[in-house]
Amino acid sequence: PQSNENFLNRQSEFESNVRSYPRKLPLAIAKAKGAWITDVEGKEYLDCLAGAGTLALGHNHPEVLESIQSVITSGLPLHTLDLTTPLKDEFSAYLLSLLPGEGKEYCLQFTGPSGADAVEAALKLAKKATGRSGIISFSGGYHGMTHGALSVTANLSPKEAVDGLMPEVQFMPYPHLYRCPFGLGGEAGVKAISYYFENLINDVESGVRKPAAVILEAVQGEGGVNPAPVEFLQRLRKVTEEHGILLILDEVQAGFARTGKFFAFEHAGIEPDIIVMSKAVGGSLPLAVLGIKKQIDVWSPGHHTGTFRGNQMAMATGLTTLKILKQENIAEQVAEHGEWLSGELRALQKRYPVIGQVRGPGLMIGIEIVDPSKPQDAMGSYPADGQLSALLQKKCFENGLILERGGRDGCVLRLLPSLLITKEELGIFLQKFEQALL
Ligand code: PMP
Repeated sequence: PQSNENFLNRQSEFESNVRSYPRKLPLAIAKAKGAWITDVEGKEYLDCLAGAGTLALGHNHPEVLESIQSVITSGLPLHTLDLTTPLKDEFSAYLLSLLPGEGKEYCLQFTGPSGADAVEAALKLAKKATGRSGIISFSGGYHGMTHGALSVTANLSPKEAVDGLMPEVQFMPYPHLYRCPFGLGGEAGVKAISYYFENLINDVESGVRKPAAVILEAVQGEGGVNPAPVEFLQRLRKVTEEHGILLILDEVQAGFARTGKFFAFEHAGIEPDIIVMSKAVGGSLPLAVLGIKKQIDVWSPGHHTGTFRGNQMAMATGLTTLKILKQENIAEQVAEHGEWLSGELRALQKRYPVIGQVRGPGLMIGIEIVDPSKPQDAMGSYPADGQLSALLQKKCFENGLILERGGRDGCVLRLLPSLLITKEELGIFLQKFEQALL
């Protein structure tokens, strides 16, 4: 029978044989359109997760579907290894044109289907290009589950699954715009952390050998929606450049208009040495690619290969998605909608003290859930309440709202909806979210 329970029971029967996504969202999906998902029992949910931000244009956008049809009817091979086709040519040229300076100083490296693939390639390339092996990463950073990507991911929980990760990885406190880990808010915090960083890589007594690269997200996603201050990113660019250290920006989640700019690093006006791209770049289908500054393009043919780097369908859906995002200036609309929604959430915060910070930008929004009955910390924040955020996620789900969690103790409810979500739909979100808070 077509019931959620039936499919969920079958999943638990399989559990001993098939490992699957944690069942925080107990539904079996029958269909989806735009910002909405319908389960096998006909119940509708507003999907504020959208494949962890992959579905930039929402589910089953008609032009995305048409682009799949056009590949099927054109007779193009579905698989080509990494060989060239007119479609790959067009996709590559268009993607390059979206990189800083219209991509004139960049080249592309297709890496495989997933974000972690691209992070692996970025780390390998940085080591080869500099002849050094250290990597600096940040607290709260998430870069994927493969060996190298996990090594530069901060979260200790998935690291329990494996021993002997990359040895030369140094973690720095992430310069949260809203909560500086040195207990200094605002500009003073940015200065303190920049100073710390400069000393770390500059000082023979710091205990850290000069690294090959620094990797970070300009807006952390899984870490709980933490935007880095613009001045920090600018200082980081300057100091890495001065010391010949490569700057890798992981735009897998924050890229492609999600934060109200085409790439999240554009808020700081900087040019990374390596740009890591996946999720939305494939327009719903698996694709990952690096943008690499030409002077560090040191690999010879054969240095980095892979069978699944030429997914034609993903290039077709990716091209359609990129064109719509760019030509219809979706980033601007995202910035406006994000600002409006964050404002409404901050108004809600005044009435519900369990809402700690509301963090943006754009349609990458984190709602921190805290325990206001406990004492505040030195930064004036209440302790995280992961249990309450889990309960709220569940209540939201029952109200027909799909949300993800992240951040410290999972206390941040995260929104990554379709970038085409309407103001009316965001209003429905607010209504359903407030119902859960009551
Ligand atoms: N980097 C970032 C910033 C991500 O958010 C993710 C996935 N959530 C990854 C890398 C890894 O991507 P994938 O799951 O496709 O390997």
